[in-house]
Amino acid sequence: MKDIREEPLIGSPEAGRGVFVNRTLNMKQVKAIGYDMDYTLVHYDAVAWEERAYLALKKRLLDHGWDAPSVQALEFDPNLAVRGLVVDTQRGNLLKVNRFGYIKAATHGCRRLSGQPLRAQYDRPVIDSGDQDMVYLDTLFSLSEGCIFAQLVDIYDQEGLPGCHSYAKLWETTRESLDQAHIEGALKRDVIAQPERYIQADPMAAQTLLDQKRAGKKLLLITNSEWGFVKPVMDHAYGPYLPEDMPWEALFDLIIVESRKPGFFQGSKRMFEICGELLRPVQGSLETGKVYLGGDAEKVEAHLGLSGDDILYVGDHVYGDVIVSKSRFKWRTCVVLRELEKELEALADDRGQQGRINELMRAKELLENESNDLRLLGLRDRATDETRARREQIRLEVEGLDSELGEILSNLQRTHPSWGHMMRAGNDESLLAQQVERYACIYTSRVSNLGFYTPFKYFRAPRLAMPHDQEVGHWFEP
Ligand SMILES: [Mg+2]
Repeated sequence: MKDIREEPLIGSPEAGRGVFVNRTLNMKQVKAIGYDMDYTLVHYDAVAWEERAYLALKKRLLDHGWDAPSVQALEFDPNLAVRGLVVDTQRGNLLKVNRFGYIKAATHGCRRLSGQPLRAQYDRPVIDSGDQDMVYLDTLFSLSEGCIFAQLVDIYDQEGLPGCHSYAKLWETTRESLDQAHIEGALKRDVIAQPERYIQADPMAAQTLLDQKRAGKKLLLITNSEWGFVKPVMDHAYGPYLPEDMPWEALFDLIIVESRKPGFFQGSKRMFEICGELLRPVQGSLETGKVYLGGDAEKVEAHLGLSGDDILYVGDHVYGDVIVSKSRFKWRTCVVLRELEKELEALADDRGQQGRINELMRAKELLENESNDLRLLGLRDRATDETRARREQIRLEVEGLDSELGEILSNLQRTHPSWGHMMRAGNDESLLAQQVERYACIYTSRVSNLGFYTPFKYFRAPRLAMPHDQEVGHWFEP
């Protein structure tokens, strides 16, 4: 592999690799940057990892007594579930909802659910985010459980499953089987044995962190993974791309493993120093360069002598990394969404079509306005045969436009064949996009994208227009 140690990162980011700004962030004021590891500092081949997780999960479920031929025949389908979906554990459905909680797409098991059958299941088409029966597929680690749950719902509907009397029980059994530590342990052993198969190396990431460190930022690694996994994975993903005499550990002021996020951001927790095979309880202050286990965000702030917006935390888990660190500690936040690259690529491919859609929508709007005016005129002066005929003609023209629009929309490139774009739901933002907008100061597809900018970059949020701003045009408020 090409060694880029001495190659500077200059020039504009490639397409899809920009840093996008929700809230203005002046990196000059950020004194410390904390990083999650899995799917943040290190990216895995999600399909390879999840397929392996799926097979282990399936084996657990067969051992659980669900060893029907239909279960044995199941295969991983990476398109059944995507990050950002909501699992309705009571009804056996996967849902895609928009920022208001409205259901925009749904499946029952693996089958598309829409129209009357969907309305029959939900008396109001809104999902309450506090509902305990709704589970959010928050990370790329969710794909295997979402997939097997959908497949098992179909089997449960058709032939039942031993000891299972509800979709909720089906979900609970799936979740418990995936949570078994030994499945994760087996997966991690595979990754360590064949890192090149599972880890997507990004040499620019090491250079980005090195640049931040040289610029005086204190870097932290705060991961839920254990040291026995973190060490070999970071050795593989960062070691080869740093100066010869620099181990990757030297990038970080503190390394904290088994941090148990989101609990790490919720109250005081015991902390240990890792000394070879031993764990030594931490009694005084923390020391730079050491590896710790557990602990909490308050201890990190005390060690750094920093708090709130002095610290930027970068992670891929919208709740466990970003929502809690932002809400409780007011840290600045960056969310890493690898899927953005494909999503932006697909949107760029659709740009030509988008122009035609805009033209058709504009023509439709003009016709609708004309029809509206003719109706008001009819109310005032009594409708004539001529106005009635024109309104009928408009109705037919709008139908023609709708048909062309429908055809273009159905042929648009879609990032995901079943669920469409991760950040969109119909014409609106998806729920995931709304959470990202609300809690992440910035978002990007990978850590190395920060390397396209200086560590002192002033990331400015774009001015947001509200619907009524169209009428008044430009505005500025100091
Ligand atoms: Mg992670």
